[in-house]
Amino acid sequence: MAENQLYVVATPIGNLADITLRAQQVLESVDIVAAEDTRHTKKLLNHLGIQKPCMATHDHNEAHAAQQIIEKLKIGQNVAIVSDAGTPLIADPGYHVADQVAKAGFKVVPIPGACAVITALCAAALPTDRFIFDGFLPSKTTARKGYFNGVKHEERTLVVYESPHRIMHAVDDLISELGPDREIVLARELTKTFETFLRGTAQEVKAMMVADANQQRGEFVMMIRGVISNKKLEVSQEALDLTLLIAKELPLKKAAAIVSEHTGFKKNQLYQFALESKAE
Ligand code: SAM
Repeated sequence: MAENQLYVVATPIGNLADITLRAQQVLESVDIVAAEDTRHTKKLLNHLGIQKPCMATHDHNEAHAAQQIIEKLKIGQNVAIVSDAGTPLIADPGYHVADQVAKAGFKVVPIPGACAVITALCAAALPTDRFIFDGFLPSKTTARKGYFNGVKHEERTLVVYESPHRIMHAVDDLISELGPDREIVLARELTKTFETFLRGTAQEVKAMMVADANQQRGEFVMMIRGVISNKKLEVSQEALDLTLLIAKELPLKKAAAIVSEHTGFKKNQLYQFALESKAE
């Protein structure tokens, strides 16, 4: 292992078997582990059979911790930084450390592994060619509604983190700003025993959560299908009008499916454009 390097090491987000070989090798060989919560990280290290000194590096002491880490790098030591779960710096501490260490002229080396955003996206069955990750949703209703309103016309898939205490409020606010028919996916308890993907329109997903309170528990990644721009649509105005008309009596998805069957236009495009028209 080269000297004087900061390793940014991803750790599992639930299933401990998701630790990578390289992460284990690095954690075994560094001089010290900078950890968001040292007690939490000690448990992981114990599980891996690794004895290593840890230093606390969290949101409240990052600037000071960065200087301590730089001092260690200066005397030829290697340092790993980890968060409680997943990839450090992704909605987790570590940015200030990486920034200061890079500015001090030392190498910052990524050791990739689990990350809830990517884990959720790769099985969501939503478009993943382009997406936006916006970290945690705002915790207050007004700000959360403002966020949803601001992304109303976004074409890319949206990904956000939300806590279990606010997940139902978040779904309600989403429905109020983006409409009940916007397609969403909630990835819950990823890589753990009760891993679940709740897929459907926002109101369908809400109904699943109301029907089974267990679906409101655990850790969540919320994904929202983006809208299809009017410019890219290849459907006639007549077909859209018909979809909107039928949607007065039936769910929009069903209306889009009926019109698609009769006109040959794509069901998804009819659905998305009708959704946009309704929102406007
Ligand atoms: N750095 C982490 C990563 O790489 O994803 C994220 C840390 S952030 C403080 C914690 C949030 O990530 C949780 O509130 C939840 O939204 C999401 N998350 C983490 N683990 C998860 C899991 N196993 N299932 C679903 N969401 C998870």
